[in-house]
Amino acid sequence: MSDNGYRCGHAACECTVPTGGGFCSTWCEEHASSSDGHRCECGHEACEHRMNAEGR
Ligand SMILES: [Zn+2]
Ligand SMILES: [Zn+2]
Repeated sequence: MSDNGYRCGHAACECTVPTGGGFCSTWCEEHASSSDGHRCECGHEACEHRMNAEGR
């Protein structure tokens, strides 16, 4: 999951993006610089799995 792109610019996001410093979604772009970034709600599969696994 790590050698096929760059991590999304949102700290809590598990998604990868094709270019460094980019975001997987508009949600991430808007929330990356805010302090409530303890979880990602971009809606992509990687992040939904992570939410289910951690229970928060
Ligand atoms: Zn995400
Ligand atoms: Zn993202």
